Amino acid sequence: MDTLALANLLFPNTTDTPETLEERFPCRNMPEGAVITRMAPSPTGFVHLGNLVQGLTSERMAHQSGGILFLRVEDTDAKREVPGAVEVLINTLKHYGIHFDEGATIDGDNGIYGPYRQRQRAEIYHVYAKKLVAEGMAYPCFCTEEQLSAMREKQEANKENTGYYGKYAMWRDRSLEEIREQLEAGNPWVLRFRSTGNIANQFKFNDLVKGELTVTENDIDHVLLKSDGIPTYHFAHAVDDHLMRTTHVVRGDEWLPTLPFHIQLFKALGFKLPKYVHIGPLMKMDGTSKRKLSKRKDPELALTYYKAEGFPVEAVYEYIMTLLNSNYEDWRRANPTAPSTDFKFSPKKLNPAGNLFDYAKLCDVSKNEIAKMDAEKVYTLLLEYTEEFDPDFAAALKADPDYAKSILAIGRGGKKPRKDLATWKEAKPYMGFFYDAYLQAPEFDSKFEPALIRSVLDKYLSTYDYSDDSNTWFNKVKAITEEIGFTTDMKAYKADPSAYAGTVADVSTMIRLAITGKTNSPDLYTVTRILGYDRTVARVQNVLNTL
Ligand code: GLU
Repeated sequence: MDTLALANLLFPNTTDTPETLEERFPCRNMPEGAVITRMAPSPTGFVHLGNLVQGLTSERMAHQSGGILFLRVEDTDAKREVPGAVEVLINTLKHYGIHFDEGATIDGDNGIYGPYRQRQRAEIYHVYAKKLVAEGMAYPCFCTEEQLSAMREKQEANKENTGYYGKYAMWRDRSLEEIREQLEAGNPWVLRFRSTGNIANQFKFNDLVKGELTVTENDIDHVLLKSDGIPTYHFAHAVDDHLMRTTHVVRGDEWLPTLPFHIQLFKALGFKLPKYVHIGPLMKMDGTSKRKLSKRKDPELALTYYKAEGFPVEAVYEYIMTLLNSNYEDWRRANPTAPSTDFKFSPKKLNPAGNLFDYAKLCDVSKNEIAKMDAEKVYTLLLEYTEEFDPDFAAALKADPDYAKSILAIGRGGKKPRKDLATWKEAKPYMGFFYDAYLQAPEFDSKFEPALIRSVLDKYLSTYDYSDDSNTWFNKVKAITEEIGFTTDMKAYKADPSAYAGTVADVSTMIRLAITGKTNSPDLYTVTRILGYDRTVARVQNVLNTL
């Protein structure tokens, strides 16, 4: 077979050569050890936690080493593409602090190694496709869908491996004439790799996360170019990561089964193999067993979920870092205020089996993060959240920013800040009672007669003095307790509850319910200071009117 003639027949208009491309995309002049890596998502419009895990790993590896992180859009599957997906992707990743030095941007390309959208690179792939054909390492295949499924059925019936290989590779050794005839008839074709691998052979491979792996040679003549001339993931991966001078490929471990083919392809093309960082899946507990997070079953897989729940970006970032590197938490404890970029990230510390996503842990991390913020920052972020997800509450917060900030300042600062909030969504249930519009009617314990409650609230109002300090205020509550025959001696009460009609805690709860509508709230004296005299009195009065 005259493979050169075949190459010219298949790619008559491809005049560039690998040499001209090498010149056009020169080696990057980077210091020793600088990691050049990329994110290469498909623009499906769905950005998930796995993207963030992969994005943070790539970002840390690139920037920590003084290297480069670029974005390549893998849009070879036009069917899966959603309009606006690239914009969503870039903005979402930016929101989580992942900035690209180079690559696809919302309105074009930034960098000399582009185009960074694969569909715009068809001619580049054809240069290497032509080279492989000319060297006898690739050939066109005209099999129809029906022929391929008949082949698969036969293989299944014979209990053989499925796929286009060995004796099943129907177009592997056809003559130039046969191929020409098919082309002249206008029949569609794909370009296949001519594999010389043998599944009886195994070889060792070192992955930066998985360690040393024993892998089996590939014997399948995989498709390189689809019938529209657009490459498959495999071929585009080899060509792009070579020409874009990627040193490290960070990707999900669902690509491990085709890794032997990728290695083979890099070799056939004469490319240096990059280092691989294969990340395990994100899992969750489902009952007592673990399973992969699923797009269909688990809303928490989507990054939009965290925004809608109101997890601060800082919290999600911190949590992912604790997932990725188990020593991050200890480092954080020792360096509570240091920027997370000071942490020495290592892909070797990633769990090869993947990570268990733990919602409760995320909430804990988030409570810590929010507790570290000052009232000003909490106000800003809460407003940002409510403006998008709860405009009503946002309006209340904006109507009197100082009032809102004084509420948000409760328990903040100091050595042991309160850890009340894990998400901005929880803010309204937590502090909404400060606003009359969200105040709930109290539900008093039915074991106390309304007359008794009335007498407590009456006494509270008649002795209430806004200038009291917290001790004086509490002494008055104790006095009321004794006046109605309840005890202030909690120890004695605990020893013999039946001896008492009630305690100072019951009295406090009655007052708390009247003022806040809730049985739990931040320190009640502090609450009354923020509400102010008029509002406190009005609330108690209103409740009295209903009793
Ligand atoms: N488009 C591929 C994916 O989304 C990229 C894998 C890679 O990073 O090479 O899985």
